[in-house]
Amino acid sequence: MIIAVDGPSGAGKSSVCREVAKRLNWSLLDTGAIYRCVALTAMEKGVDTDPAECGKIAQALDIRFVADKSGQKVFIGERDVSKDIRTFETTQCVNRVAPMAEVRAQLLDIQRRLGQSTNTIVEGRDIGSVVFPNADLKVFYTASAHARAMRRLKEFQAKGETIDFEEVVKQIQLRDETEYNRKESPLIQCEDAIVLDTSDLDFEQSCQALMKLIQDKCGV
Ligand code: C5P
Repeated sequence: MIIAVDGPSGAGKSSVCREVAKRLNWSLLDTGAIYRCVALTAMEKGVDTDPAECGKIAQALDIRFVADKSGQKVFIGERDVSKDIRTFETTQCVNRVAPMAEVRAQLLDIQRRLGQSTNTIVEGRDIGSVVFPNADLKVFYTASAHARAMRRLKEFQAKGETIDFEEVVKQIQLRDETEYNRKESPLIQCEDAIVLDTSDLDFEQSCQALMKLIQDKCGV
């Protein structure tokens, strides 16, 4: 079984998918992490604006996901890059690297190989539309820009940091615009996807809602 979960940034899709995969004892494939690994490598080599070089990095990418207590660790070769792929710099860089056609073409096979072994939740932006168009279930996981900004605000407040709410809303809208309007594999809501709008749901309710969709479809 393959469950494709696509949706915009910042809706909490990754944490909910991780939790649901854990509860069902399924695999999780976080495709954003794969793009982040390409971006990190390209940035460190100083070639992150060169699509041909980024494509080569994607082709040769030796990525591994290793389950651990806190979730999943990500390795490039023997190096644990779990933290490095989540820094602000890498996030900025992946926004440049992920739209490159050369990169996307190379990562297709890797994603299909990693996603096909067992029952898997595959999360990303183009999973239902491009990577696994025949997925057993497609979910479009979303939340309003306002709700996503509120979640970010709470994360910052929990860390004792302050941010300007309107600025966060603006950043989220800008990121949406880039993801929905890019030329290569834009974020789209597939016609056969079930929309899960989590604007008014908390974490547990979002997990329950996704679990129910999977259980209804797959009888697990
Ligand atoms: O989900 P996450 O924020 O980790 O994704 C990192 C970057 O990779 C984002 O810029 C996103 O647009 C891109 N991405 C993508 N296609 C995917 C998964 C992520 O373009 N399937």
